[in-house]
Amino acid sequence: IDFRKTHFVISAPDIEHLEQNLPGNDGIEIAFAGRSNAGKSSALNALTEQKNLARTSKTPGRTQLINVFETAAGCRLVDLPGYGFAQVPLAMKKKWQQALGEYLQHRECLQGVVVLMDIRHPLKDLDMQMVQWSVESQLPVLVLLTKSDKLTQSARMKTVNDVRKALANFGDAVRVEGFSSLKGTGKPKVLSILTEWFTG
Ligand code: GDP
Repeated sequence: IDFRKTHFVISAPDIEHLEQNLPGNDGIEIAFAGRSNAGKSSALNALTEQKNLARTSKTPGRTQLINVFETAAGCRLVDLPGYGFAQVPLAMKKKWQQALGEYLQHRECLQGVVVLMDIRHPLKDLDMQMVQWSVESQLPVLVLLTKSDKLTQSARMKTVNDVRKALANFGDAVRVEGFSSLKGTGKPKVLSILTEWFTG
């Protein structure tokens, strides 16, 4: 699978619209979830070697769409709305959260979930919720500790180990890796896991 061939397919405001326009009974999807500013857009761009595939925009209104990209025929990467944005009204946050939960629990073609967390602030409540929903839905999870270049090698290793320990009760279904879009750290590992999920 050549991730550089990834291209935009469709945006949807919620799971109902997504299901209507792109039914979930076909193909394979890998979802990308994370708090706003976790580095999700940068990671998608880095993994696909594209500058502007996913918008690196800080505007909350921009990030609330579900964006779908296709890497190879029937193999899709799904950029889910960033959660936890401080300036967003509580009612809208709840709506987003519900949409994320519905997607994780009901999207038939979903094969795996990448949960991105800033390596300096991992395992917030909503991050744990994402991991838990995914595991409950029998989906494997890849936790990416992003911006790993912001820490020293030893601090990086310590955080990766601490997060692995904190998630150990989920068993083999949850993997944890350090990642840097800036330096390319962790990229081969991530691409091999995504390929594994796509090719089963
Ligand atoms: P998103 O809201 O999750 O899509 O996050 P973005 O990809 O827009 O990144 C949020 C901020 O973190 C931006 O200022 C990025 O430049 C920065 N960032 C993202 N990835 C990295 C990384 O690997 N290293 C460093 N140092 N900064 C990063």
